[in-house]
Amino acid sequence: MEEISEENTKIQDSEHKDPDQCEETEKQLCIYYDERAKLHPDNHEEIQLRSQFIWDALAENKLLKSDRVHLSCFNQIEVEDLTQVHTTSLVQKILSAGELKDGETSKMFGEENTENKHTPECARLAAGSSLQAMKDVVTSPFTPKAAFSLMRPPGHHATEGHADGYCFFNNAAIAAHFAIKSYNLKRVLILDWDVHHGDGTQEIFYESSKVFFMSVHRWENGKYFPYKDCSNYTYLGSKQGEGFNLNVPWNTTEEEDDLSEIGTKEYQFLFENLLFGIMAEFDPELIIVSAGFDSAKGDPLGLQQVDHEFYSWLCVNLQKICPKIVMVIRRRLLNGYFS
Ligand SMILES: [Zn+2]
Repeated sequence: MEEISEENTKIQDSEHKDPDQCEETEKQLCIYYDERAKLHPDNHEEIQLRSQFIWDALAENKLLKSDRVHLSCFNQIEVEDLTQVHTTSLVQKILSAGELKDGETSKMFGEENTENKHTPECARLAAGSSLQAMKDVVTSPFTPKAAFSLMRPPGHHATEGHADGYCFFNNAAIAAHFAIKSYNLKRVLILDWDVHHGDGTQEIFYESSKVFFMSVHRWENGKYFPYKDCSNYTYLGSKQGEGFNLNVPWNTTEEEDDLSEIGTKEYQFLFENLLFGIMAEFDPELIIVSAGFDSAKGDPLGLQQVDHEFYSWLCVNLQKICPKIVMVIRRRLLNGYFS
C-alpha cells in the first residue's frame, strides 16, 4: 500500500476559520472532519480509530486531492442551537463532562456511554459538522451535492432528553431541524440504514410531517438493541406526523432462527420494491442519512451480509430521488472497504 504523505493527511484546523468565509465549491462531495474527534474516549465498538481509519483510507486512495472532493470548514455548534432539539438539562449534563480532570472518565449516561473532559467539545463539533454540512448542501447552487461528516460521537440513539447507545447529541436530527427552521424546507427525508434502529431520531420527529423518518434495522421482536417496541413497523408516526415514520425491522421466524443470511439481495429488493417508491412520493428537498455501516459483511455486531458496493449503489439511487444528500457517519466503515 502506498505511503500516506503528510501533506495528503494534514487536517485543517477549523477552529478559527469562519465557515462563511470558505469558498463556494463546485465539487460534488464535501467532507467534514477534525482531528479533535479522536479526543472523545472509546465506547465499546465506537472507537477513536474509526474516524482516523476513514480519513487514512480517503488519503490512501487520493480522494482528498480529487477534483470532486472538497474539505469543508465548520465550528462547534452553539449551545443555544442544541437546546432547540434537546432539553436544556441534557445539554447541560453533557457539557458538565468538560469539568472532568485529565485522564478521568464518567458514566453519566449508562453503560454504553463513556465521557471525558473532551466529550462536550467533540459532541459540539460533531453536531456543528452536520449543521454546516446541511447548510452547505442546501444553499449550494451546484447539484448534485453531497456532504459526509466523519465526526464522532454519533447521535441517532439520542432523544430530546436522553443520551444513550454511544450517542450524545442527535447530529442528524439537528441538521433536519435547522433545514426546516432556517431554510423553510418542508420535506426532509432521514434515512437511517444503520443496523440498529434510530430510536432517538424517530422520537424527535414522531409528530412531524416535515421529516419523513425511515429506518431499516435488526429488531428480532425487541431482542436487539435498543430493545424497544417502538422499533416495530407498527409505529407510523402520530398527529401531524402520522404516515411519516416507517420502520423496516428484520425479524427471525420459526423457520429461520438467525438473520445472518440477510444481505445485499434482501436490501436491494427492499429498496427497489418498497422504499424508493415511498421516497419518490414524499419528494424530499433534502436527504439526511444516518450512515451506519454495521449491516455490512464482517461487522461483529450486525452479523449481516451486505456487500460494501451496496452502499454506493444506494447513494447513486438516492441522488436520483434527491440530488442534495447529507451523510452523517454513525459507525465506522469496515477494514477493507476502501482497499
Ligand atoms: Zn449501529
